[in-house]
Amino acid sequence: SAKESGRAGYKIFCKELSTAAQRWHTLSNDVHGASARGEFALHYQPQIAIESGVLTGVEALLRWHHPTEGLVSPALFIPLLEERGLIVDVGRWVLETACRQCAIWHAEGKPPIRIAVNLSAQQFYRGDIVGTVREALRLAGLDPQWLELELTESLTLDETETTLRIMQELKALGVTLSLDDFGTGWSSLSYLRRFPLDRIKIDRSFVRDLTTHSSTAAIVHSILSLARNLGLDCVAEGVETREQLSHLQRELCSEFQGFLYSEAVPAEDLSNLLRLLRSGGSLVVPGRERLL
Ligand code: C2E
Ligand code: MG
Ligand code: MG
Ligand code: MG
Repeated sequence: SAKESGRAGYKIFCKELSTAAQRWHTLSNDVHGASARGEFALHYQPQIAIESGVLTGVEALLRWHHPTEGLVSPALFIPLLEERGLIVDVGRWVLETACRQCAIWHAEGKPPIRIAVNLSAQQFYRGDIVGTVREALRLAGLDPQWLELELTESLTLDETETTLRIMQELKALGVTLSLDDFGTGWSSLSYLRRFPLDRIKIDRSFVRDLTTHSSTAAIVHSILSLARNLGLDCVAEGVETREQLSHLQRELCSEFQGFLYSEAVPAEDLSNLLRLLRSGGSLVVPGRERLL
């Protein structure tokens, strides 16, 4: 009967719910020691200049290799790290590891590439972010011009003065500042007006609907002309199809990142890719004309 099948559905729902809850419980218990056990790793996703096809940089993305749960998404465990106040220490490890890896790639050959690192609001307000960044650069021997810091609108508006001061100090170090997930928050425009940003990253949700929703296409068009008028570089996130890429090329978007070219890969895979691209005498992505 409908009642019985309803009940069965309810049971299945409860079972799924309890599995998810159990997983959450496991993860939140284990996240404490994950760093000490060496379960965190960074993967790196290429960023490509759309016009030239040159690989200009990579974004460092945190991965957690859990012994029983497998590879856990940062969307799940970053909030846990933030909740437990662990993000400041893990974030420092991310910065140091990413800078060291970038310096290794610079030592392996030319031309040099940029490294982008995501920052959480807590790293901004609870840790000494300026000191941490300076130290990470020093330890790696990396010129600040190659480090890009990705910020989001979670840097709250009521702390505008502090936010502005810290951003100015970071800029004074010589690093690049970019606004991640642009267009998804409430205050994207006031961020552009208030803060010393160099680049914006158009959120994946806009790129996804770019070729299917005319209103999204209109928004992306406006974001790109706004960025141009403000002298900001623009990176499109989450490009998965050639249609999306050609559209962004016509709209004069400067760079893209997405599964169309590559997902985030371990350092070793990126080293191999760089070697391959560099052996052609440049970092131009082969078959780029097929991409565009
Ligand atoms: P994000 O900074 O916006 O990073 C881009 C996300 O989009 C990454 O997810 C990336 O794997 C994914 N992505 C890139 N291209 C494509 C595509 O073509 N299609 C699809 N479907 N997805 C694509 P990921 O690695 O799961 O990271 C999720 C979020 O976790 C990041 O979003 C960032 O906010 C946060 N995160 C990652 N690593 C760190 C970190 O070291 N520190 C902090 N504070 N946050 C981090
Ligand atoms: Mg990012
Ligand atoms: Mg993003
Ligand atoms: Mg995001």
